[in-house]
Amino acid sequence: MKTVLHIENLDCPVCAEALQGDLQKIKGVQSVAVDYVTQTITLEAEGDEIVARVVKTANAFEEVRVLDGGMYASKGDSHKKEWLMIGIATLLLLIGFSVEYFTQGMVWAIIYYCVYAAAYLTVGYPVLISTVKNLLKGRIFDENFLMTVASIGAIALGEMSESVLVMLLYQLGELLQSIAVGSSRRSVTELMRLKSETATLLIDGEQKTVAPEELNVGDVIIVKAGEKIPTDCILLSENVTLDTKSLTGESELRVLKKGEKILSGCINVGGMAELKVLRVYQDSAVGKILDMVENASSGKAAPEKFITKFARFYTPIVCCLALAVAIFAPLFDGLIAEGNFYFKDLARWVQSALTFLVISCPCALIISVPLSYFSGIGACAKNGILVKGATYLDVIARVKTVAMDKTGTLTEGDFHVCAVHGEDEKELLSLISAVERGSAHPIAKAFEGIETSYAAENITEIAGCGLTAEIDGELTLVGNEKLMRDHDVDVPPIDSLYTVVYVAKNGVYFGAVEVGDRLRVDAKSSIFEMRKLGISRLVMLTGDKTLRAEKIANEVGMSAFKAELLPIDKLTEAKRLQTEGGLMYVGDGINDAPVMAQADCSVSMGKLGSAAAIEVSDVVLISDSLTSLPIVLKIARRTRLVVMQNILFSIIMKVGFMALGVMGVLPLWLAVFADVGVMLLAVLNSFRVRLTGK
Ligand code: ADP
Ligand code: MG
Repeated sequence: MKTVLHIENLDCPVCAEALQGDLQKIKGVQSVAVDYVTQTITLEAEGDEIVARVVKTANAFEEVRVLDGGMYASKGDSHKKEWLMIGIATLLLLIGFSVEYFTQGMVWAIIYYCVYAAAYLTVGYPVLISTVKNLLKGRIFDENFLMTVASIGAIALGEMSESVLVMLLYQLGELLQSIAVGSSRRSVTELMRLKSETATLLIDGEQKTVAPEELNVGDVIIVKAGEKIPTDCILLSENVTLDTKSLTGESELRVLKKGEKILSGCINVGGMAELKVLRVYQDSAVGKILDMVENASSGKAAPEKFITKFARFYTPIVCCLALAVAIFAPLFDGLIAEGNFYFKDLARWVQSALTFLVISCPCALIISVPLSYFSGIGACAKNGILVKGATYLDVIARVKTVAMDKTGTLTEGDFHVCAVHGEDEKELLSLISAVERGSAHPIAKAFEGIETSYAAENITEIAGCGLTAEIDGELTLVGNEKLMRDHDVDVPPIDSLYTVVYVAKNGVYFGAVEVGDRLRVDAKSSIFEMRKLGISRLVMLTGDKTLRAEKIANEVGMSAFKAELLPIDKLTEAKRLQTEGGLMYVGDGINDAPVMAQADCSVSMGKLGSAAAIEVSDVVLISDSLTSLPIVLKIARRTRLVVMQNILFSIIMKVGFMALGVMGVLPLWLAVFADVGVMLLAVLNSFRVRLTGK
């Protein structure tokens, strides 16, 4: 059983890592992922008892609190308490300064010491408490520990004001960081507004307010003007006008008629509508999307994983180095200067060691890297693109080849009958209609409205070929040339630019129908955009005939095409393309699950109706528009660029400052200032990702 817990006050990725470690130790927990950016704990465990234990452990961790129910507590993030704390400490520090510099004598000295102490405790007590708590649990070497050592070290050296300044700047940095992360978190959680808080259930004419999760299939609900559709439904009223903005990012009004399917998340902008529940909330479009977004950050990208690992070894190593600077440097200094071992200039070296420690804090890296990915996922979401994890952003950034399916991807998949070949046209259409009822393929929709006097039994779908069924005890085949060939049925050649659906009864050709669908309006321009982005290998893979494939491939500007492929052939083709670099496969999820699994990154066209597509693919274009393809490529590349910039920038700055610190050029407070500066710049840089796209 999977459970997602929402938490607050989890302050840094390293703490998240530590909490995850604690939770993993609980018996019965199969897997657990703690995410700092989304502030969630995703948990795989059987039984409420274990979940309760996880909640208890999490609540006991530093200042973390598990929020009960409700997604993403929209707590104002006002940080009043923190600002107040920083304000008071600054004031005290200024008073202390004035007293120290403008007065003389023992009494005044005691006074400013007390004022400094008050300032230090005001701003430093949360850090000190966390350090003690962590030490008791045997967890040393985190940011809190670094700051405690550095500031207490400064006090020991008699640098009271510096010690206060160090804590003050550190806390200010933490506060700014939390504001920055909060803002980016909010931009992603806007998406969460897709979910309705309540639904209005209709029982014997009485209205009852329930949670969307409580709705069952077949329940009748009403949705008033301005309300969101709580779960996927079928319309019972005559018609309804919906705004799909929340789902696709683009405000578009759609009028639906009685009996049509309605996806959750759309807003009813017309009058009150009566609906019948088609799917329970968990299986609804919104349920699936939110589930995906929540889990997105658990699919960590390689640089992200690297950074977390790096942080685990880095801090202890740095602490040892600092200790070495404090002990060995003065010893050698003594040796060189005087010829024997003694601690020369101990205070200066200890100070250098402390400065070194403070600078070494890897916060800039460990915060900005996951934040950049998260911003990338958020930027995609804002453009109606759902990316299932940071890993995929990474993969997309390196894509060399884009392979696309034809039907339903490059074309709209809205088939209609264009021509009929056969003696008895009515009979032919009636036969096909009966058989296609058993298919979810876009071709089947062309026959949906055609009445039939037959009842088909044992309908079997042969992926990439068509259907077989029994009608009045006779084997009936409906599908392409290949299906006919496989059943040894001779068919006349039909040179058509459309897709030809042949029909055979009892092994004898009965007739054929040409069905056509249009190219998507944005197919050509999107392919062009992708070319501009440097993707020159654009391959169309289709199960359709060569003639039609060629026409479409040329029209939209693909660089190559392969036709008459069965789902399994598409797989082989994908493997071959992969040898030439990262492969992205774009399909509609029908008949292409195997390639989707094989490709480095699979993208499925929205069509929120097909839940299967959402499940198999790594990226879903909910706006159901190909224009999203160049956008997702751009966002992914920008994200990767920003991540690399941040990693390089932080490391270079760190190493530089560390060297300056050891040489004694950099005072402690300036070290903290530089550290906060680097962190904020990196975080601001990660915001650039959010600006990509529309
Ligand atoms: P694409 O790769 O272009 O998306 P598919 O692999 O889904 O196409 O299908 C390949 C071919 O198989 C179709 O062009 C059609 O000729 C035939 N086919 C598949 N399903 C059906 C169906 N339900 N009815 C008739 N023909 C079908
Ligand atoms: Mg298809």
